[in-house]
Amino acid sequence: RQQREKFCSPLGMRALRLKFRNRPAALAALVRRTDNRAFSGTTTEKVQRRADFKELCAEDLSFFQEVIGQSNVITDASELEPMNKDWMHHYEGQSKIALCPETTEQLSEVMRYCNLHKIAMVPQGGNTGLVGGSTPVFDEVIVSTKKMNKIQDFDDLMGILICDAGCVLQSLDEYLRERGFLMPLDLGAKGSCHIGGNVATNAGGVRLVYDINNI
Ligand SMILES: Cc1cc2nc3c(=O)[nH]c(=O)nc-3n(C[C@H](O)[C@H](O)[C@H](O)COP(=O)(O)OP(=O)(O)OC[C@H]3O[C@@H](n4cnc5c(N)ncnc54)[C@H](O)[C@@H]3O)c2cc1C
Repeated sequence: RQQREKFCSPLGMRALRLKFRNRPAALAALVRRTDNRAFSGTTTEKVQRRADFKELCAEDLSFFQEVIGQSNVITDASELEPMNKDWMHHYEGQSKIALCPETTEQLSEVMRYCNLHKIAMVPQGGNTGLVGGSTPVFDEVIVSTKKMNKIQDFDDLMGILICDAGCVLQSLDEYLRERGFLMPLDLGAKGSCHIGGNVATNAGGVRLVYDINNI
């Protein structure tokens, strides 16, 4: 908050303009970052929840429980708390429900239902993203891939691995190392991030540069 007040006060902005007068892009980036804090659950003065998105009712809850199983529907506040907050603790949503489908068919059913009933949702992998994309802004349903974590196939001739979106990067790397291969991406969050999240964010890390240079 101190930083925000400093940057947003007229004097703070003047100091920033002087510092970055030859670098408008850098100044714009800083200004946008402080502005974006208005997306957090506690300060939503700038972004309003869209009224046309449905609010969840008991019928929706029973549908989800029936499709993916009661144990895969999270409504407990203490379990939801970390799922509502991003890694950097910059953003916080107020979702009351997280769904953890185990198969593509279950996920597909959930998505079809949400689309039909205009229920807002946010996909969540390992929740290690640094820009708040994996947490709800308001009360969106969190659809987590954490239980979709099976390796489907590995072709050691072609070097092609087929797996579910919720496989943790490190576990894929360990699986491949046992077979004399390496995952072509490596990042600090590898113990938590999911391969689906890596693809969605186009993440790479240092090994990606190394491997591309060696192809
Ligand atoms: C210590 C640390 C080091 C990091 N190092 C790097 C780095 O070197 N390089 C780098 O690029 N990033 C890095 N990151 C950022 C982050 O780890 C990556 O962006 C990672 O790819 C996110 O994966 P995740 O599973 O945690 O996705 P999440 O954070 O859960 O989600 C990220 C975004 O992808 C969407 N998403 C997730 N899964 C799916 C899916 N299955 N289908 C569709 N959309 C989906 C979410 O809605 C969200 O918008 C780092 C983060 C930390 C904490």
